[in-house]
Amino acid sequence: MTSNHTAPADLPDRIRHYINGEFVDSIDGDTFDVLDPVTNETYVQASAGKKADIERAVAAAKLAFDEGPWPRMLPRERSRVLHRIADIVESRDERLAELESFDSGLPIKQALGQARRAAENFRFFADLIVAQADDTFKVPGRQINYVNRKPIGVAGLITPWNTPFMLESWKLGPALATGNTVVLKPAEFTPLSASLWAGIFEEAGLPQGVFNLVNGLGEDAGDALVKHPDVPLISFTGESRTGQIIFGNAAPFLKGLSMELGGKSPAIVFDDADLDVAIDATIFGVFSLNGERCTAGSRILVQRGVYEEFVTRYAEQAKRVKVGLPSDPTTEVGALVHPEHYDKVMSYVEIGKGEGRLVAGGGRPEGFDTGNFVAPTVFADVKPDARIFQEEIFGPVVAITPFDTDEEGLALANNTRYGLAAYVWTNDLKRAHNIAQNIEAGMVWLNSNNVRDLRTPFGGVKASGLGHEGGYRSIDFYTDQQAVHITLGAVHNPTFGKQ
Ligand code: NAD
Repeated sequence: MTSNHTAPADLPDRIRHYINGEFVDSIDGDTFDVLDPVTNETYVQASAGKKADIERAVAAAKLAFDEGPWPRMLPRERSRVLHRIADIVESRDERLAELESFDSGLPIKQALGQARRAAENFRFFADLIVAQADDTFKVPGRQINYVNRKPIGVAGLITPWNTPFMLESWKLGPALATGNTVVLKPAEFTPLSASLWAGIFEEAGLPQGVFNLVNGLGEDAGDALVKHPDVPLISFTGESRTGQIIFGNAAPFLKGLSMELGGKSPAIVFDDADLDVAIDATIFGVFSLNGERCTAGSRILVQRGVYEEFVTRYAEQAKRVKVGLPSDPTTEVGALVHPEHYDKVMSYVEIGKGEGRLVAGGGRPEGFDTGNFVAPTVFADVKPDARIFQEEIFGPVVAITPFDTDEEGLALANNTRYGLAAYVWTNDLKRAHNIAQNIEAGMVWLNSNNVRDLRTPFGGVKASGLGHEGGYRSIDFYTDQQAVHITLGAVHNPTFGKQ
């Protein structure tokens, strides 16, 4: 099945850092292997950044912030550059998708959607900064107070491998729009698409030194970025465990932190739901993006009255989900990103066999003897204390659990350490709102798939994150809101030490 697999034309011979407008190797010359997820063979070497490389990148970004034009430009001028970036990304969406799909194993059709979303992120923040208004407060006759919003400095952006280019755009868009300069440390499993930003930004007219990229392992390059004293902001997306480490490492520097972490999101299907739509949505909700999706609805809680029917129909449909080469436009589930991740997901599939009733998948799909392919896997009758109910698997594996009452459904939904997303399927308006408002999740979709307007807050509660991004919340994270107070009337001035 994998014999038709070919690499895209014109792959780079090496993936390098990009610092102060130049592609450079690591100072110590070190590199790491980047694997093709279909063959697990090394297809390119990437520069392995260390502390010295981070220092070089931060120095360039700091100089561009302290002395360069970017933070001082009119919002309209920055907005024009951002729109040009969006135009270029849109015009290259197919090439971007081809490279992203090859590097990450994501199905090409879904990678194309992600490339377009990346362009949209830039366009959105380009529009937002020219429409931005800040608060002023008047105390009649006495005082005017206004907010002087300012970029903060060098933003450190650390991103995961699941939708690399799109998640980078999500941080780059607002960080740059607000006038900061950046050092990006992309995930080491998928460094290919990140290096394309350099050419895109140059072409769009972003000044030298504003965008810097250092590849490398999290414990080396990522760690050095978090601990660099000249980086006041860290925006991180990744595992909750890594988030905890970064929190600790950033604490002595009192940095601004935005944390988008893991999830184990519930989809609750009530007896009165439209089952056809709910099944389609919950299939897509966990198997899209290979199940490597932070907001995946990976626990499906189904009310007893429709439970058996739901499980039977869900399992039948899951068996029909098309696993295939990432480059095939008809593929619905591609190859997992890396053999280490594949081993992790497969270990959960084995654990699940002792914890639930396997009704679909459970191993490699037929015909795929090599590469990181996992058949869409469904376990029913999973108890809430099961590891596959509690732990983030981040692959095409789902746990289904029955419940009887609304209270029980809600309690099951909240019975994890995570709180990122939740999906509720019911035609009872009162129930829908009551459940939504009592679910411990940063985002809830009612009778809806995961469709998000860019103005809405994005973020999780509990172990799923701290802080919100999205719309103005991203602008708030990447700026200081300095309050300026002006006296209008007599100076309010209690005099000390009066003669
Ligand atoms: P990860 O935590 O292993 O790595 C994320 C990034 O952190 C990588 O660039 C890595 O090199 C870096 N890193 C690792 N250790 C570090 C350290 N000590 N200091 C600094 N940087 C370090 O996560 P992953 O496996 O790449 O991504 C999958 C995870 O991301 C899942 O848990 C998923 O739910 C989560 N995720 C969350 C969201 C969200 O918005 N909440 C979105 C996508 C993915």
